[in-house]
Amino acid sequence: MTATLHTAPVVVTNAPTAGSDAAGVIRDGAVLIDNGVIADVGPAADLAVKHPAAKRRDHAGVLTPGLVNAHSHLQYAAYADLASSGLPFSPWIAQMVERRMVTTDEQWAESARIGAFLALRSGTTAVADIVTDIPALAPIARSGLRGISYVEALGADDDQWNADRAGEVNTALDVAMAQTRTAGISPHSLYTLSRHAFTESMRRGRELGLRAHTHLAESADEVEFVAVGTGLLADMANNIGWKMDAISCGGFAHTPTTELDGLEGLGADVHVAHGVHCDSADRALLRDRGTAVAICVRSNKILGAGRPPIADYLAEGSPIGIGTDSLASSPSLDLLEEARAARDLALAQGYDLPDLNARIWQAITLGGAFCLGLDALGDLAVFDVPTQGDPFAALIDHGAGECVATVLGGTFVHRRGGQ
Ligand SMILES: [Zn+2]
Repeated sequence: MTATLHTAPVVVTNAPTAGSDAAGVIRDGAVLIDNGVIADVGPAADLAVKHPAAKRRDHAGVLTPGLVNAHSHLQYAAYADLASSGLPFSPWIAQMVERRMVTTDEQWAESARIGAFLALRSGTTAVADIVTDIPALAPIARSGLRGISYVEALGADDDQWNADRAGEVNTALDVAMAQTRTAGISPHSLYTLSRHAFTESMRRGRELGLRAHTHLAESADEVEFVAVGTGLLADMANNIGWKMDAISCGGFAHTPTTELDGLEGLGADVHVAHGVHCDSADRALLRDRGTAVAICVRSNKILGAGRPPIADYLAEGSPIGIGTDSLASSPSLDLLEEARAARDLALAQGYDLPDLNARIWQAITLGGAFCLGLDALGDLAVFDVPTQGDPFAALIDHGAGECVATVLGGTFVHRRGGQ
């Protein structure tokens, strides 16, 4: 493959490098991609001299590393009507459970393919993707998207886990690991798995050396369910017929984060989604364990789950990423649209330091990579946003819907207009 020199009026690199300012921004910069990896970064004029044989691609706008979506379920792209249904969290979950039963293998595969396409089209090149149904694995692997396919363990009490769910999860893990995309394990939540099913799925993932990802402290209903074993999620479990420990013992009298820690569900090999109902002790525990949180502001709002304490997470230095969640509870898979909502919420919560845009940008790049345990960000995206002033503010204010090119491993996977 020939080397390609991608130039742009502004190149954002995320770390100070030759010719950049302290924030890693290069004016009239360039990135050399050789054999699918980033081989050189610096001022365009210097790189053109150093690499005269490289094919040249001159972009307008701001060129950045590919974005990392820290929490999604791409297979739910076809469930977008649920996001606009106006249902609050617990009835929404119940609706999801019902709807899932009538979705065919072909529909899962097609929906996952669309989800991967929408992610790439908006400049996202890596996703923490939760996969509940095996047919959703192959289209995402084929799309080239990087990241992890977290095989989900969902909806099992002890009896169901021992009878067939453990076997099903093992089969899905085998399929996921046989594909090129990295596999992980996702025990869904503290209210859809018994303690035994939760710990067993975590244990199986770790035995295989896989990372884990789970939903945590998303709604007030979850807090009530874990603490006292009652509420809408207890009603849902009873209706479905799950025998849940929290219900039979009248709750555990602690927070979801404490409960997850007790189940050995935290650690540097885990990241959690949501973290809406985490108080300062919970957030300190997450930090102590090295567990990052994927914040999903728009999904939380749509489901009435609450507002994640993003200003606190930022002020306390907690590792965070940002996720769009699925189209079943979110208006788009566009990470810059999500980033803008997260930034606006942090402002509303009183975060007033001038680094806010840069930190939110970090959350959708390096923060997401930390969530997923990815070492390097080797892919590129180009956004048609103003090139004057602070590029982080320009990307977050104007980047949604404005991705004009996405380059994955040296190959264009999305191009708009004259790019
Ligand atoms: Zn989710």
